[in-house]
Amino acid sequence: AKLDGRGTYRFFEPEMDARMQARRKLELDMRQALARREFQLHYQPQLQLQSGALSGCEALIRWHHPERGLVSPLDFIPLAEEIGLIVPIGEWVIRQACRDAMTWPAHMSVAVNVSPAQFKSDRLVETIISALASSGLPARRLEVEITEGVLLQENEKTLQTLHRLRELGVRVSMDDFGTGYSSLSYLRSFPFDKIKIDRSFVKDLTSKPDGEAIIRAIAGLGKSLGMTTVAEGVETSEQMQRIRLEGCTDVQGYLISKPIPTEDLAQVFASYPQA
Ligand code: C2E
Ligand code: CA
Ligand code: CA
Ligand code: CA
Repeated sequence: AKLDGRGTYRFFEPEMDARMQARRKLELDMRQALARREFQLHYQPQLQLQSGALSGCEALIRWHHPERGLVSPLDFIPLAEEIGLIVPIGEWVIRQACRDAMTWPAHMSVAVNVSPAQFKSDRLVETIISALASSGLPARRLEVEITEGVLLQENEKTLQTLHRLRELGVRVSMDDFGTGYSSLSYLRSFPFDKIKIDRSFVKDLTSKPDGEAIIRAIAGLGKSLGMTTVAEGVETSEQMQRIRLEGCTDVQGYLISKPIPTEDLAQVFASYPQA
């Protein structure tokens, strides 16, 4: 705030005003995007290193904005979180992902990202139960990816929700592992099925001395805890070889496939052995 000539406070600079307006416009557009069917899911497969088979795909949301074209989830998910729209959007993601996965080979699972506000909403578990029932997807083929943000305000309810999902047979993954402050302590509070090692560590693998140390440590940790360890953002075969050596069980990244629409997955599925 700034004191203007008349002794009153002006809260918004012109640029600030423009930014607020752009934000408000994005918000209005986002409120209509679901009804206008502007969201789409792309899927990125994960490869099991030992069997050489694909184990499942992660669902990643895409927004085709009528004027702006493709808007990155990094640009609208945080805003959707803030204004609560993530709940209906996330519900759409879960239902669509379950329906799409039903068209895949029976061993393929689907992973959905669930952000903190969505995880806290009372509807999450009911939504998942309903999406599984109406699509016919077995619970064990659905995976929920959460980040540290979900566990940050760790309380009874968070853990209760995680356990309810687990009782349903849904699997739970810790996403972006190693990027937050207390990834390790969260592994102690809940038995995750899978650890996803953040892309930044994969990048360091071949670019920094001792870049493999962290991946090796996480892979070892996962192994002793009986968790799958997926390295994210694998782009080169050199990275994949190193990751295999360090003991990760799975890889995901452009080397296997970029995220693509469900219609295009069959071609990718066909080029790998069935599990
Ligand atoms: P994330 O969950 O960590 O997803 C992985 C991101 O890395 C995706 O970006 C993916 O396209 C990208 N990626 C995968 N392989 C590679 C690679 O080899 N190289 C590089 N450079 N990038 C790779 P995307 O699709 O832009 O999504 C960004 C983030 O937005 C996600 O990060 C996730 O946090 C969030 N997000 C995406 N879809 C959803 C959703 O449906 N719900 C929620 N709550 N969040 C979502
Ligand atoms: Ca994820
Ligand atoms: Ca991630
Ligand atoms: Ca991320």
